[in-house]
Amino acid sequence: DQLSAGKSGVTPMMAQYLEIKAQYKDALLFYRMGDFYEMFFDDAVAAAEALDIALTKRGKHEGSDIPMCGVPVHAAEGYLLTLIRKGFRVAVGEQLESPAEAKKRGYKAVVKRDVVRLVTPGTLTEDSLLDARRHNFLAAYSVVRNEAALAWADISTGALSVMPLAPVRLGAELARLAPSEVLVAEGIETDVQAIADDMGVSLTSVTRGSFDSVSAEKRVSALFGASSLESYGTFSRPEIGALGAIVDYLEMTQKGNLPLLQPPVREASQGVMQIDAATRRNLELTHSLSGGRTGSLLATIDRTVTAGGARLLEQRLSSPSLRLEVIRGRLDSVSYMIEQRSDAANVQDALRKVPDLDRALSRLALDRGGPRDLAAIRNGLGQAADLAVADYGAELSNDLQSALRALSGHEALLELLDAALVAEPPLMMRDGGFIAPGYEEELDESRQLRDEGRGVIARMQADYVNQTGISALKIKHNNVLGYFIETTAKHADAMMSAPLSETFIHRQTTANQVRFTTVELSEMETKILNAGNRALEIEKRLYSGLRDAILQQSARITQASRGLAEFDVSCALARLAVDENWCRPDVNESRDFAIEGGRHPVVEAALRKTGEPFVSNDCGLSGGDQASIWLLTGPNMAGKSTFLRQNALIALLAQMGSFVPASAARIGLVSQLFSRVGASDDLARGRSTFMVEMVETAAILNQADDRALVILDEIGRGTATYDGLSIAWATLEHLHDVNKSRALFATHYHEMTQLAGKMVGVDNATVTVREWEGEVIFLHEVKRGAADRSYGVQVAQLAGLPSLVVDRARVVLEALEQGEREGPTQKALIDDLPLFAASQAPAPIAKTKLNKLNQRLDEVHPDSLSPREALELLYELKALR
Ligand code: ADP
Repeated sequence: DQLSAGKSGVTPMMAQYLEIKAQYKDALLFYRMGDFYEMFFDDAVAAAEALDIALTKRGKHEGSDIPMCGVPVHAAEGYLLTLIRKGFRVAVGEQLESPAEAKKRGYKAVVKRDVVRLVTPGTLTEDSLLDARRHNFLAAYSVVRNEAALAWADISTGALSVMPLAPVRLGAELARLAPSEVLVAEGIETDVQAIADDMGVSLTSVTRGSFDSVSAEKRVSALFGASSLESYGTFSRPEIGALGAIVDYLEMTQKGNLPLLQPPVREASQGVMQIDAATRRNLELTHSLSGGRTGSLLATIDRTVTAGGARLLEQRLSSPSLRLEVIRGRLDSVSYMIEQRSDAANVQDALRKVPDLDRALSRLALDRGGPRDLAAIRNGLGQAADLAVADYGAELSNDLQSALRALSGHEALLELLDAALVAEPPLMMRDGGFIAPGYEEELDESRQLRDEGRGVIARMQADYVNQTGISALKIKHNNVLGYFIETTAKHADAMMSAPLSETFIHRQTTANQVRFTTVELSEMETKILNAGNRALEIEKRLYSGLRDAILQQSARITQASRGLAEFDVSCALARLAVDENWCRPDVNESRDFAIEGGRHPVVEAALRKTGEPFVSNDCGLSGGDQASIWLLTGPNMAGKSTFLRQNALIALLAQMGSFVPASAARIGLVSQLFSRVGASDDLARGRSTFMVEMVETAAILNQADDRALVILDEIGRGTATYDGLSIAWATLEHLHDVNKSRALFATHYHEMTQLAGKMVGVDNATVTVREWEGEVIFLHEVKRGAADRSYGVQVAQLAGLPSLVVDRARVVLEALEQGEREGPTQKALIDDLPLFAASQAPAPIAKTKLNKLNQRLDEVHPDSLSPREALELLYELKALR
């Protein structure tokens, strides 16, 4: 056993293992042994638990057993996925030579091995490890004194972006980009850990040298063949450091196979609507509060049919634009697809056949691809070419025209791939058979030889049957013997004596069979084998040629892919607008916010399943240069939160370039969107709920400007009544006087409705309910004016609170309200209240009456009563009571 230690302690193989492992201390080492990846020591213990596979032992190290577990190579991807999801990183150590090659170097030589790739969350490329409909970003956060920057790369598209960043905005940007992995320099992990945990991002610390701006500049510019980074813009030191760290990390994890990175682009933070992490969570943009995608805004609106389109849609939703020309350009594309419906239908049909070009390209670039990736490029470019020359019903919008330009011009490559590839190639290159016949003469010849050889063998069998007179004689093939002749054991003697033994050479005897070969058969076999190997070699060579041809065009293919995504998103938003009856918003430079007939798309979709209609509502915050605030009151469950959120979502949808769920919408650009809900239970994140509420409110009051749209839902709820009221009151005043934002403010403090009379630009609105026979009916209509009361007691009754408690609550409420009118102290008020037991207990039936009742009942024999007598008795009993 190669692993058991000799007297010296460590076997050569274990020495090799330990040497490699020492370089990858924070990763699990997959150590290739034949058909398995094996893990040893602590790696094995951790992996066996995470993967739920058997932990065994193998050999000894320093006197103790070596724990071991393993996964088969052919199923490794699934295990990798589980490990990455559980937060591990995996170093894949491969055999770099065959055991036979190792033997040549000496009897005891260990097969050469090394890590060929470090698998981390931010550097995945395999389809099975990625969500096709989402980006997978790797980010790096760099701080130099007070300045900071964030860079991020999507290795499946090669896009590399960077932005300067105030450290306080790190959480917001991570929430927007949702990278799967963030790099930071050693030493600052602790500052970032909490934010990363909060976002569910995996944090990786790398050496400080990785972020050093001087070497980073050299590394990055060398990558793009430029003398300095200035060719791409002026970047600050933290920006260069962050870019450098990304490049360095990719080199390290991909072992020199760099993805097709494009030169860095600075993203202007002024260009997008600012939405912080709490707001994203609260509005359930890409994930619902329960964590999944279902129930999110994205899931509700996504009608895209390609993976690239889905990723672009998510990107737009995560970063709504602040530039009117961008927004209007996108809306024009949606309008076009709505007006030209048959175009939209045709385009979507074509798009359905478009594979994931970006990811196929990235696998090819990293040399991790296969024949199917070549075919994906061919199929995608083929659809693109068709769309490029299709007839369109009218002149395309500007954005669609430029998208269209990116779709054409791939004719030469397409022709090459069309000629070279079969229609449906196999997954693995080693299987061969993906190059089309007629493409390369040499390959055709080798294949012919191989196939003819097989025909020759079939004929040989017929000859041998004749020659021996054994009709059951067969020529078969297996991996150990190659081709061989097989007869049943009873013919063995005949075959092994003259004259047959002159031709047939005995090779093997099994329980029932005897196996032979002939000189002729082994010669033929060699020919077939050689021809087959030769064919495979030619295919491999052609594969690299095709791969190179594709990679030379990678930038243009990426553009085509982006063009296809643009078409997809435009069609998808058009379909959504038509299906759901949405309208085109008028986005402009004013400070208006005027929505007619607005709806909440997610709540509406949920209600549709129950058959209940969604009540649409108007909203009009139009303050000119004033603040403009609606103070919304109304009972719980009336629809306040829904109304608040729907308006935030309408603003966001409009600025991402989508139609909106309303009958009309006029929206002055919103620069920042804030949404907060009063202390909800945030136990999972282990902070005092009231503290969270206040921290979040502070963030709004410190940041919101006069272009912000602020949604505050029951702020102050998390503390005692008077504290809460005072905080809510002061918050509203600050929003009005200092921030001058547009805001919707829902509260259950009716006292605040007085503010509307006192402050210009503050209006009361209420969600109406009707009271009917002591119960509330929710109308879900938002009207101007203040709610007259809160109906809390009625709502509690609806919720099934015991009637004793409901009745008691009514009494307390009445006393409190009376007290408020007449103004005694709280203490006196409480003292005045009647005692619980005395208040509402049902009046007991007097003893004597009870006796009479019992007596009368004793006399009755139900079986002997006629229906009429029974009825009469009932009247009698009732009268007795
Ligand atoms: P609140 O914030 O006032 O307590 P919510 O906004 O949470 O109330 O709404 C409670 C429920 O009422 C929602 O889950 C939804 O089912 C329903 N609802 C809210 N708004 C509407 C509406 N405009 N039309 C129909 N149903 C609504």
